Amino acid sequence: MIIKTDSEGKCQAQGGPATCEDTDCPEGGAAKQEVAAKLGVIADYSKFHPKLAIAFNDAFANTKQMLPDIKLPGVTSADDAYSVLAQKGLYDLNQDPDYDVMSPETKKELAYRLAEHAAEKIKKAAESSNFEMEHIGSYDVICVPKQNTDDYQKLEERTAQARKEGKVSVGSVQGLINHEIAHGINNQLGISNIPEVRTLYKAFVAYSNPSHLSMRAMSDIDEFISEGWGEYMSEATPRPIAQYLGKTIIDKYNEMYPER
Ligand SMILES: [Zn+2]
Repeated sequence: MIIKTDSEGKCQAQGGPATCEDTDCPEGGAAKQEVAAKLGVIADYSKFHPKLAIAFNDAFANTKQMLPDIKLPGVTSADDAYSVLAQKGLYDLNQDPDYDVMSPETKKELAYRLAEHAAEKIKKAAESSNFEMEHIGSYDVICVPKQNTDDYQKLEERTAQARKEGKVSVGSVQGLINHEIAHGINNQLGISNIPEVRTLYKAFVAYSNPSHLSMRAMSDIDEFISEGWGEYMSEATPRPIAQYLGKTIIDKYNEMYPER
């Protein structure tokens, strides 16, 4: 393990350049976290392979450039999800939730999602190998399970293979991240409520071959939209459905934020 130090023996990666690719440096994540904060992202990269943190920051920066007013999701390792939820003010790590000051919706969310389901869901998903990362919609946080925070190379290889097999529309880690960000974009812009998009999704499932996008895109309309945006943002030659969905998201964004 290489630890870069300055003349005083302090690690230089702290606040180091965002492009730092010293994959062995244990402080790599901390430097990237500052970059994320500048983009308005609550990130906990402390357990991330530096290349994974870089991939997240690149995807966030690209999204911000294309859709400046979209709120970017938080990001953390699955086992540390609670710490990012706490930073977002959604969960108090030190005390039981104060039910008196909470809206009934929040109460229900907390009781149902966080206290009972989310923790189990995150844990279970992290243990299963086909879960690369997941956007937890109610909290707008992307969680990455341990095996994928640790081994960037393997994640990149598995993703490329999954695309070859038609399982997913994206063949890179960057694409996976754009897929997850798209869940947040969809929640903010309501893309899945657009009648034309619903019609296209139904047609895709009923008549189309998954090879027009991916098998994952067939599971539900949210996955359909995320697969489309992921491909649109990350692949060199997005296929027609991905191009359509990409354009639809940009059009809807311009409609909702006309001053830009
Ligand atoms: Zn998804």
